[in-house]
Amino acid sequence: MTTAVYTGSFDPITLGHLNLIKRASRVFDRVIVCIMYNKNKTPLFTVEERVRQVTEVTARFPNVEVDSSDMLVAEYARLKGAGVVVRGLRAVSDYEKECQMALINKRLNPELETFFLPASEKYMYLSSSAVKELALFGADLSAFAPREIIGEIEAKFDRKGRK
Ligand code: ADP
Repeated sequence: MTTAVYTGSFDPITLGHLNLIKRASRVFDRVIVCIMYNKNKTPLFTVEERVRQVTEVTARFPNVEVDSSDMLVAEYARLKGAGVVVRGLRAVSDYEKECQMALINKRLNPELETFFLPASEKYMYLSSSAVKELALFGADLSAFAPREIIGEIEAKFDRKGRK
């Protein structure tokens, strides 16, 4: 059985992330989506909120689990018995950072392989930051974020007040 971990901030999860999860769940027996948090960053959503959101939008994939951690990816994968880390590659801008991370992870955990999945054409330029930027301006998010969480994203910006 091959277990893969798919890590990220998912602040918030986008349709690009979800597309990657769906594709990974067809390839690997078990996929653990892990929200990695960094105490030095101030996210839009708390870890608990993100775990709940990702759990809700991935509920239809029976072999997908959701978790959170502040460990290094290489250590987290070892702990979970995962031999693969899945990463998405968007435009060229992701390539250098992702290769660097794959090499570091390999050094830290030689058993771990990084699998890159190219972003779908539709989501090539989609990021969590873009979703937040659009929400700030009150744009329609339906082509970018899972419908289950759109209200929650909009509510964050309503509370903060649109500029
Ligand atoms: P991080 O802060 O670790 O980059 P993200 O949540 O932004 O976390 O991304 C997690 C992973 O998902 C990364 O591998 C990233 O390249 C990938 N990813 C993000 N957006 C997309 C997208 N639109 N299509 C495919 N992969 C994506």
